[in-house]
Amino acid sequence: MCLFCDIAAGKIPSKIAYADDSVVAFHDIAPQAPVHLLVIPRKHIESAHALTEADEPLLGHMFAVARQLAEETGTAKSGYRLITNVGADAGQSVPHLHLHLLGGKQMKWEN
Ligand code: 5GP
Ligand code: ZN
Repeated sequence: MCLFCDIAAGKIPSKIAYADDSVVAFHDIAPQAPVHLLVIPRKHIESAHALTEADEPLLGHMFAVARQLAEETGTAKSGYRLITNVGADAGQSVPHLHLHLLGGKQMKWEN
């Protein structure tokens, strides 16, 4: 269905950090920080704006996975960012919901 659907299905190789029945996390191909992981649902959801009430447990699980990865990467201690871009002005380039987990350096707030 899309690039991240193919990554979740293993059709396109990626460096997987976590996977279960509903969520996959992998290393970003163009990391913007020493730690840059993408946490995605296996289900194709176009963006955070396309979420429905039925997705609430899935969304909670995505945050729980992100939390676990923050612990594993040490960024839970040093600090990390969870970002999800929605649409063109935000710079969303892949139309499949993803949380960026960024950390391992001091970050600035940039627009
Ligand atoms: P967005 O710009 O939509 O918020 O984030 C998409 C992210 O996916 C970007 O940070 C980009 O580097 C990453 N990305 C794009 N194509 C691939 C790919 O084929 N493999 C991996 N691992 N990451 C990708
Ligand atoms: Zn998809």
